[in-house]
Amino acid sequence: MHAHDVTRSAHRYDAIVVGAGLAGVYAVYKLRQIGLSVRVLEAGGGVGGTWYHNRYPGARCDIESLDYSYSFSDELQQEWSWSERYASQPEILRYINHVVDRFDLRPHIQLNTTVVAASYDEEEHVWVFETSTGESYVANYAVMATGVLSVAQVPSMTGLEDYRGRWFHTGDWPEEGVDVAGRRVGVIGTGSSATQLIPLVAEEAGHLYVFQRTPNYTMPAQNHPMKPEVEKDWKANYPERRRFARASGFGHNQVTNHRSGKEVTEEERRAELENRWQLGGLYMMRAFKDILTDAEVNEEAAEFVRNKIRSIVKDPETAEALCPQNLYIGTKRLCSGTHYYETFNRENVSLVSLKDVAIECITASGVQLTDGREYELDVLIFATGFDAMTGAMNRINPRGRGGVTLKEAWAAGPHTYLGLCMADFPNMFVITGPGSPSVFSNMVTSIEQHVEWIADCIQYMRASGYAAVEATFVAQEQWTQHVSEAAGRTLYAKSRNTWFHGANIPGKPVTFMPYVGGVGNYYNKILEVAREGYKGFQFHKVRSVSKV
Ligand code: FAD
Ligand code: NAP
Repeated sequence: MHAHDVTRSAHRYDAIVVGAGLAGVYAVYKLRQIGLSVRVLEAGGGVGGTWYHNRYPGARCDIESLDYSYSFSDELQQEWSWSERYASQPEILRYINHVVDRFDLRPHIQLNTTVVAASYDEEEHVWVFETSTGESYVANYAVMATGVLSVAQVPSMTGLEDYRGRWFHTGDWPEEGVDVAGRRVGVIGTGSSATQLIPLVAEEAGHLYVFQRTPNYTMPAQNHPMKPEVEKDWKANYPERRRFARASGFGHNQVTNHRSGKEVTEEERRAELENRWQLGGLYMMRAFKDILTDAEVNEEAAEFVRNKIRSIVKDPETAEALCPQNLYIGTKRLCSGTHYYETFNRENVSLVSLKDVAIECITASGVQLTDGREYELDVLIFATGFDAMTGAMNRINPRGRGGVTLKEAWAAGPHTYLGLCMADFPNMFVITGPGSPSVFSNMVTSIEQHVEWIADCIQYMRASGYAAVEATFVAQEQWTQHVSEAAGRTLYAKSRNTWFHGANIPGKPVTFMPYVGGVGNYYNKILEVAREGYKGFQFHKVRSVSKV
């Protein structure tokens, strides 16, 4: 069909939002507030994104819920009560559904609809979306809220199709749950998802085998029921807490120690590391201002955690196998769990280290290693991560100006201007895209910053009579260079075998994708760009191009 025929038969909106996670939900709220007609297209059978798809036992956030929540409505933040310090997946999902209903957004959200293609019509300055339902949609603005950890990665393993047991990925967990009671269960992976899931599966399984390729550092979450005095204090000070989060390094209120790990005595260092262990979760990474930039300071923290592992895990060989070596702490996303290391003291749990071997194949009855060992399993769980940051966008592979595809544009890794827009892809905005703080932040803070910036940009265009906005190639390349330089000043650049670099996906270009220059600095930058007439963007009137 000719492009014009498609646009004639398609549903028309001012904006199409792809994805109904925390980003898509706020985007539809905000864009409707500024008067746009909006349709949200969501692949899943419900809203919630991450919190809809990742229903595995133990799934919860690792940023305090009072922080990991929307700030855009004071009534909402005052009236909603979180039951725990770190909310569980069911509670976050309830919260997102509550927001959708409270602000009457459900009628604008279309579920079970995957966007399979998107192309830019240069004459009309519109995006044309094709979906799995066969229906097409046309909109002036494409707001991509497709998520950066939304494409589950099941490694290609010979024999999986012949496996007679049941297998699952944590990021695509069935709504009805998985019965592991008394069963022989295998978990592949020891990242954040696995470390949350393993202790709970161990309580029910007959026997649990944990297949570990690279040990990571897991902090105790130190989760507990919400303390009424903490909730009261937050609610009394919400505006200030939210302002602080937006201006902070990581988009939240976790207390940072601004001293160097080198300017303190040995005793002070130990005390601070112990303090961080007791605070739990990600607090360890704020122990010293140079923990992620100075290899020696980092190693002090790493060894402190290794000693904790050795003190918790009774079998010395297992303890040693669980201790990460040659891995800067925090450069693979730090894990936060409850009773993770203690779980390896259970009789029904075995750690299978893949340090000197690999998984050869999946057999009809379980997992076989390259040294011939075989494990019979009734249930196999892949906690093997995601095609992060670029996976969902590349799957749609939008076609921009002159027919250029995103995969072509990102062949050497994602290039964006501010993590928000791409040259040759006019009127397309990505929420928390590569090149923005994204996964290096409290994502709700970053999502709100992006959605508000996008809404402001669209309002500016409408007020100025512009039909299209597009990042300039020069601005995009300068920003991408800056993203890479910012990472180069940290230890992240030295640990390249991580999903931050795309190294977990065979064939993916290895390049550090998020922006580590700090949420506050980044926020100032995007506000400054807007204030200066959207520096680095060019705007198109209906038939002419004007450089700004
Ligand atoms: P998502 O929630 O991923 O939503 C994207 C949606 O887009 C999905 O529903 C997907 O189905 C849909 N979609 C994608 N492609 C298409 C398509 N082609 N067509 C239609 N729909 C499509 N971040 C934190 O800051 N703190 C945490 O504690 C934290 N914990 C996490 C725990 C887990 C288990 C995971 C996986 C991630 C966690 N994150 C955390 C990151 C989390 O992804 C973000 O905080 C946030 O939920 C992202 O919201 P989003 O709307 O941007 O993306
Ligand atoms: P992940 O961090 O990418 O971990 C995947 C694990 O699977 C790694 O241990 C990896 O080992 C292993 N693996 C992958 N392929 C393998 C193979 N072929 N053979 C053996 N092992 C293999 O994924 P994730 O745990 O799902 O977490 C992803 C991100 O989501 C997190 O980093 C975090 O940002 C977010 N998350 C947050 C929370 C939270 O606490 N709030 C919970 C879950 C997820 P290698 O390291 O050797 O590659």
